[in-house]
Amino acid sequence: MTVEQFESARTTTPLTRNKSSAKRILVTGGAGFLGSNLCERLLSKGNEVLCLDNLQTGTRHNLTHLSDNPRFEFIEHDVTAAYGLEVDEIYNLACPASPPAYQADPVHTAKTNFLGALNALDLAKARGIKVFQASTSEVYGDPFMHPQREDYWGNVNPIGPRACYDEGKRCAETLFFDYARQYDMRIKVCRIFNTYGPRMRPDDGRVVSNFIVQALRGEDLTIYGDGTQTRSFCYVDDLIEGFVRLMNSPDAVTGPINLGNPGEFEVGELAEMVIAETGSKSKIAYRPLPANDPQRRRPDIGLADEKLDWRPTVPLAVGLSKTIAYFDEFLRREDAAMKEPIKESAA
Ligand code: NAD
Ligand code: UDP
Repeated sequence: MTVEQFESARTTTPLTRNKSSAKRILVTGGAGFLGSNLCERLLSKGNEVLCLDNLQTGTRHNLTHLSDNPRFEFIEHDVTAAYGLEVDEIYNLACPASPPAYQADPVHTAKTNFLGALNALDLAKARGIKVFQASTSEVYGDPFMHPQREDYWGNVNPIGPRACYDEGKRCAETLFFDYARQYDMRIKVCRIFNTYGPRMRPDDGRVVSNFIVQALRGEDLTIYGDGTQTRSFCYVDDLIEGFVRLMNSPDAVTGPINLGNPGEFEVGELAEMVIAETGSKSKIAYRPLPANDPQRRRPDIGLADEKLDWRPTVPLAVGLSKTIAYFDEFLRREDAAMKEPIKESAA
C-alpha cells in the first residue's frame, strides 16, 4: 500500500482505537531489525502502528507475525520523498545500519539521512507532534574520548567511505536541534551503540550476525584487522525499552542521549564467545580492516540512567544465546525451503 492509498482508505475505514490512551504511531524503517522489534513493542501496548519502509534492507518477513493485527499497517515508501499521514508520534529509524549496506549506495544513504529527517520533522511540525530520531554512536567517529559521553563532538572523517552515514546522521541531528530551536518542537534524539538480536538479516554484514551465521554454517569467522578493536553490544529488547522511555520522557529531555550496553569486548573475544556458544568447529580467518573502522567504542550511559532510569539488563552471553537460537531456526527453515520440491503449475 502507498501513502496515498493508505490515507484515502483510512477516511472510509479508520483503524479502530481500542483504548483512549492509544496513539497512532509512525515508525519509519519499521521493516528493519530495530524497527520491527519497535513496532511489535508499540502494538503490544495497544497503539496503532504505521510502518513506513522502502524494503531496502528490511523485509516483509520481519512483519509477517504482525500483518494480521488490525492495528498494524505497512506502507511501502521511500522517506526521501515527503509524505503526509495522520499520526500522533513519529519514530524515524529509516536508514540502512550495516556498513556494507549503507556503503552500497552512499548518495542514497546521505539523502535518506538528510531528507528522511527533514520529512519526518516537517510532518511533526505540521501536526505539532513529538518526533524521535535514531542517531548513532558513529557521530563520535573514531573517538579520542573514551568512553563516549554526549558532550564529545567526535572525530569523523567527512570524506571517507563511512561519511555518508556518519555525517548524514550528524546532519540529521543538526536538523532536529535547529527545528526544535526555530519552531519550538518536541524532539527526542538517541545515539544508538551496536545493537544485536533476532530479526537481523543473515546477510546483513554486521559483526554479530556475520559471526553467528558463519559459526552455524561451519564457515570461518571473518575477523577484520587483528580483532583487538572493541565494541559494546546491546541486546535489542534493552534498546527498545530505552527508545520508549525516551519518547515518553518529559519534553525537556531532548537528548542527544546514548543508549547502549557499556560492556566492552574486543571483536576477537566476540568470535571466541560465538564459537563456544554454538559449539561450532569453525576457525578464524583474518581479513583487512575496512577504512576508518573505529578502534574503540563504549557508551557512557550516565545520562540515560539519570534522565530515563534506563540501563541494559541482558548480558552479552545471554543475548548471544537468544540470537543464536533465532538464526539457528531461521537457517533451518531456509534450508528446508531450499529442499522442497518445486511444485508443477496446475496450468
Ligand atoms: P536495518 O537496516 O535493519 O533497518 C533499516 C530500515 O530502514 C530497513 O527496513 C530499510 O528497508 C529501511 N530504509 C532504509 N532506507 C530507507 C528509505 N530511504 N526509505 C524508507 N525506508 C528505508 O537497520 P537497524 O539496525 O534496524 O537500524 C535502524 C536505525 O537505527 C537506523 O536509522 C540506524 O542508523 C540506527 N542505528 C542502529 C544501530 C544498530 O546497532 N542496530 C546502531 C546505531 C544506529
Ligand atoms: N567486523 C569483523 N568481521 C565481520 C564484520 C565486522 O571483524 O564479519 C568488525 C568491523 O570491522 C568492526 C566491528 O566488527 O570493527 C563492528 O562492525 P559492525 O559492522 O558490526 O559495526 P560498526 O563498525 O558500524 O560498529
